[in-house]
Amino acid sequence: MRIKEYNRDYIESSIKNGKSYLELGREYGVSDTMIKKYARRNGISLPKRREINPNETFNKGIKLKEEKILTEEEKELIRERRRARKHNLILKKKYSNLNIPKIDSGCCPICGSYHCTNGFCKSHNFQGIVGLVRLGLDSTKIGTSEIFNEYNRIRDILYDLYWIQGLSLIDLKNKFNIGIEHFPINILDFLEIERRTLSESQVNAIKQGKVNNIPQTSFKCGKHTTWDNKEVYLRSSYEFDYAEKLDSLKIIYEVESIRLSYFNRSKNREAIAIPDFYIPSTKTIVEIKSDYTLNIDEMIDKFNAYISFGYNPILILEKEEIDLFNIENLVTPERYKRIKEFNIR
Ligand SMILES: [Zn+2]
Repeated sequence: MRIKEYNRDYIESSIKNGKSYLELGREYGVSDTMIKKYARRNGISLPKRREINPNETFNKGIKLKEEKILTEEEKELIRERRRARKHNLILKKKYSNLNIPKIDSGCCPICGSYHCTNGFCKSHNFQGIVGLVRLGLDSTKIGTSEIFNEYNRIRDILYDLYWIQGLSLIDLKNKFNIGIEHFPINILDFLEIERRTLSESQVNAIKQGKVNNIPQTSFKCGKHTTWDNKEVYLRSSYEFDYAEKLDSLKIIYEVESIRLSYFNRSKNREAIAIPDFYIPSTKTIVEIKSDYTLNIDEMIDKFNAYISFGYNPILILEKEEIDLFNIENLVTPERYKRIKEFNIR
């Protein structure tokens, strides 16, 4: 029901000034369409529909998708992500009934103690690590003081598989049938197990017999069978040369079989020395180095330790035996300077 008479001039000027049909309708107590009809009937020119900005969308807050051509690789990645997400949901459902206590009355959800200040608990949220259960973690230990031992137990298992037995991340993923989104990198991080560097991974792959050699590297390394039929792993062509020499002389030797702690003065801390060769018959330790790899100060620290443990260390530098303690007088000043410079890396 209209509440007042239409005022043609007023309506015309209002429309021209941008007042909406709805607003005008409210003033007259009618709908916006009624106003529009009246205007048309009375020869009031209506403004054209405004131009629409091509970037505009009528779905507020939802941005229109840009058209994008995906490469096959990107498509595969999207599929993989979708599969992982689906797998994640299935696992979440499967493990949703795990006995993980909720925080209540100041009780630590990790170790169960009251007013826990343990940094371990703060940095180890077990709830997100489904893969740990696959590894054999007893989830009932979460929220009790036994969690520390349980954590260490799982850590030892994985450490052994990864660092001692040399399984790759893919091997581990397959062995425990753990989804790509839970494994293996975040589990290694969670268990504070250091990851192999790229070169360590390559060396490991060779040891595991997965790769025959490392392409495009300046050094030669790999397996060698000794004259008395032992398999050893050598890390440079100098080591191969020396091993062949010992083979030809039928001297019994071991490679990297000894570990001794020594004090590294330049680093001011205890460190571990792993001599290259050991000849048991004469208790001789042989260090094989090139001018590039010899760190004189560090080697002197090691030799002092070897001697104090009753070994006889010798240094083979660039294929020749040299007296480490007198090296400055045995090589040219230029060469000595060069060796020292390589140490400062
Ligand atoms: Zn705690």
